[in-house]
Amino acid sequence: MKKLPIVAIIGRPNVGKSTLLNRLTGSRNAIVHDEAGITRDRLYQPSFWRDRDFLVVDTGGLIFDDESEFLPEIRQQAMLALSEAVAAIFVVDGQTGPTVGDHEIADWLREQAVPVFLAVNKCESPEQGLIQAAQFWELGLGEPYPVSGIHGSGTGDLLDEIIPYFPAPEALPELDENTINVSIVGRPNVGKSSLLNALTGMSRSIVSSVSGTTRDAIDLEIEYQSQPYRLIDTAGVRKKKHVRYGTEFFSINRAFKAIQRSDVVLLVIDALEGITDQDLKLAGRIEDEGKAAIIVVNKWDALEKDSHTIYRYERQLRDRVYFMDWCEITFVSALSGKRVKNIFQLIQNAVSQHRRRVSTAVINEVIQEAVAWYSPPTNRQGKQGRIYYGTQVKTQPPTIALFVNDPKRFNDTYRRYIERQFREQLGFQGTPIRLLWRGKRERDVEASHLNQATQVGEKK
Ligand code: GDP
Ligand code: GDP
Repeated sequence: MKKLPIVAIIGRPNVGKSTLLNRLTGSRNAIVHDEAGITRDRLYQPSFWRDRDFLVVDTGGLIFDDESEFLPEIRQQAMLALSEAVAAIFVVDGQTGPTVGDHEIADWLREQAVPVFLAVNKCESPEQGLIQAAQFWELGLGEPYPVSGIHGSGTGDLLDEIIPYFPAPEALPELDENTINVSIVGRPNVGKSSLLNALTGMSRSIVSSVSGTTRDAIDLEIEYQSQPYRLIDTAGVRKKKHVRYGTEFFSINRAFKAIQRSDVVLLVIDALEGITDQDLKLAGRIEDEGKAAIIVVNKWDALEKDSHTIYRYERQLRDRVYFMDWCEITFVSALSGKRVKNIFQLIQNAVSQHRRRVSTAVINEVIQEAVAWYSPPTNRQGKQGRIYYGTQVKTQPPTIALFVNDPKRFNDTYRRYIERQFREQLGFQGTPIRLLWRGKRERDVEASHLNQATQVGEKK
């Protein structure tokens, strides 16, 4: 997959950046504004013009000294957004004319190594618009383009000027294949977008991509301690906002699709509400798809706690998601950022277990030991189950084939016992594992597949 070119939108608050961004990206759902001026939250939206796909990012409202301080945090965010952009659209308000703030931003933009296009917004009147736009020549940034975010006029002309600055499609850099695919799923309001913001806020460089053919599903690429992560379908995470439709439609199918494309799933749960049936449905799907996962209990700050709370909480939670006993549970506050950083480490651990390959010798040691403690059941005819040997046939998730005399002789209790032994001896914390019980008949078929499976797995 290719990295898409990014166009950054910059300007003072209230000049119409969000309106223009919605116009360019055709999105109905408006922007996440945390607090005026502060964009911890950079929002990437897919857009296209003629035959080119690109992303637009709103850097939020840049405020300079005349209105309030140009906070280092905002400055840094804006720099970061600009450093990854192929072009910047500097939006100004045609109805108020150039302000001191506009001049400051213009001076600052001239120092940045990115082509700047001056969009004079609120110029819906054709005759007035040209005059309004002309005032902005004084910013020294070249030709001012009259546009109207509300009406959409002028935006095509503007984009025609910008597109030649995009690298040719074949020259776009490829996304890193080391990338860990992570999805953030959970019910509405558990804090998924807050967590997304916290994670992206901690990471260093940010690049973005649009996945597949749906222009709607946005993936975000971030890098933390030199490890690239692809956050899957962040558009789905952020859908809604601003416009409140009452209770939000919870698209479980969208979540399922995101899970399918992940290596690791962050299942986010609201600490105050605990785990619900919908959460269990997502958990069940994660297990079925064989994905690594971490349960993130968010809003931990909002819970009344004593020194036992966390243990009690974890025990109750584990009772309900007993089928995911391999899963790490972490307690965070996306809002304050507390313990959010740890998630990166948990993801890394889970992924390495998900991709882990254990030698046949070790697997057979575990089997021998397990069988010695607790022999396989004997059926009514006095025939006992026998495990001849086992071997790992696949990773992601780790899959172990057990070659036995007759799978029917191994009841669920015994199968669970063996699985527990593998867990206890080999760990595999953070990932589901699969056991395949293969009898004689299956074995002949298996032999041909086995070679293939091993080869595929070993490429990783
Ligand atoms: P931002 O703070 O820069 O993101 O600005 P917004 O997009 O929130 O817009 C600020 C105000 O300007 C809102 O009241 C908009 O309705 C108004 N506005 C935005 N675009 C236009 C436009 O093209 N023409 C006019 N007349 N008003 C606009
Ligand atoms: P989403 O629908 O899952 O994306 O949830 P949001 O990220 O939009 O958060 C829903 C609400 O929960 C917002 O009002 C957030 O401010 C709040 N929230 C999110 N994370 C936390 C947290 O860690 N602690 C507290 N107290 N509130 C949070």
